[in-house]
Amino acid sequence: MSNDKKFETKLIHFGGEIDKTTGASSVPIYQASTFHHNDIFNPPTFDYSRSGNPTRQALEDYIALLEGGARGFAFSSGMSAISTTFMLFSAGDHLIVTEDVYGGTYRLLTSILTRMNIETTFVDMTKPEQVKAALKPNTKGVYIETPSNPTLKITDIEFIANWARENNLLSILDNTFMTPYYQRPIELGVDIVLHSATKFLGGHSDVLAGLAVARNDSLGRQLKFLQNGLGTVLGAQESWLLMRGMKTLGARMAHSEISSRKLAEWLSSRSDIQNVYYPGLTNHPGREIHEKQSTGYGAVVSFDVGSEEKAKQVLSKVELPIVAVSLGAVESILSYPAMMSHASMPREVRLERGITDGLLRFSVGLEDIDDLISDLEQALK
Ligand SMILES: *Cc1c(COP(=O)(O)O)cnc(C)c1O
Repeated sequence: MSNDKKFETKLIHFGGEIDKTTGASSVPIYQASTFHHNDIFNPPTFDYSRSGNPTRQALEDYIALLEGGARGFAFSSGMSAISTTFMLFSAGDHLIVTEDVYGGTYRLLTSILTRMNIETTFVDMTKPEQVKAALKPNTKGVYIETPSNPTLKITDIEFIANWARENNLLSILDNTFMTPYYQRPIELGVDIVLHSATKFLGGHSDVLAGLAVARNDSLGRQLKFLQNGLGTVLGAQESWLLMRGMKTLGARMAHSEISSRKLAEWLSSRSDIQNVYYPGLTNHPGREIHEKQSTGYGAVVSFDVGSEEKAKQVLSKVELPIVAVSLGAVESILSYPAMMSHASMPREVRLERGITDGLLRFSVGLEDIDDLISDLEQALK
């Protein structure tokens, strides 16, 4: 499809919306591991589903279109996309990573990749001088998450991507929280965009998946080689389900964002809440940079209720949101980073990064916001 359509139109008309063979209104699920060679002298486009599957291919083209990259890749989970991408690096390489990176990525970097002699310096990426100071002769990549999880700190994407290019570093960004609906890092100079598609892209808490988009064909070929070589692919069923969810991304994000703004303002007005983290709040330190690089604030609001005891009270008394790890679904999800997503982070590191014992993360779903607020109000009492 031509690239000049508006984002919302691309979400629906992405090239795979009509089956070329039958005219069916969705991509068929090619539940096959291998493909017959009709002509042994001319191998078929798809020959084995680890190397390529038509359903997965439709999804991969879909995310590449949405992010404005050259090629997309689908993986069995967000961590699978992230770990496969890190295999672009070699023993002896050094990486600069945002300090409040997703807990699973932190674990991968600090307890698995260290065994492969890939070392990481964690920095506060909102401070360019810290990023610059971390540069070493063997630095090969910069890894960004903005807004970060769960305290929603904002990194200047364009600045870091330009600095990375000047220093011959690969720039990688985890775009899970914003999705391409609100933020398209490749347009700002980033080389590889990653997603836990388990979250907003899938949107229904029913599929685990990861996506990667490469800025150019050369990086695309390298990622393809790794995806096939490591075998970290997404299955056909999940690929189909993910596309099913992605079609409504715009409508879901827009609705949840309006609700999130209301929730963040309501929380800010309360004296029993210590801190509210949401890039749409006027007092958010990263708001100006965020507005320069994104068209919305997203649907995750974090707030500090002051203590572990109070956090546990809220978690046990809320009736509407599901209390769970994860985010980005039609139903609201309330999570407790200290014991859930960031449990693998040592306590002192966690506290240093603002992930206190009273911090809760609210992923706002599609329920009526007034109901969500009343529910939270009774849980806080
Ligand atoms: C959930 C998440 C991941 C990991 O994705 P999985 O699909 O759970 O493997 C990575 N980054 C961010 C920001 C996430 O929220």
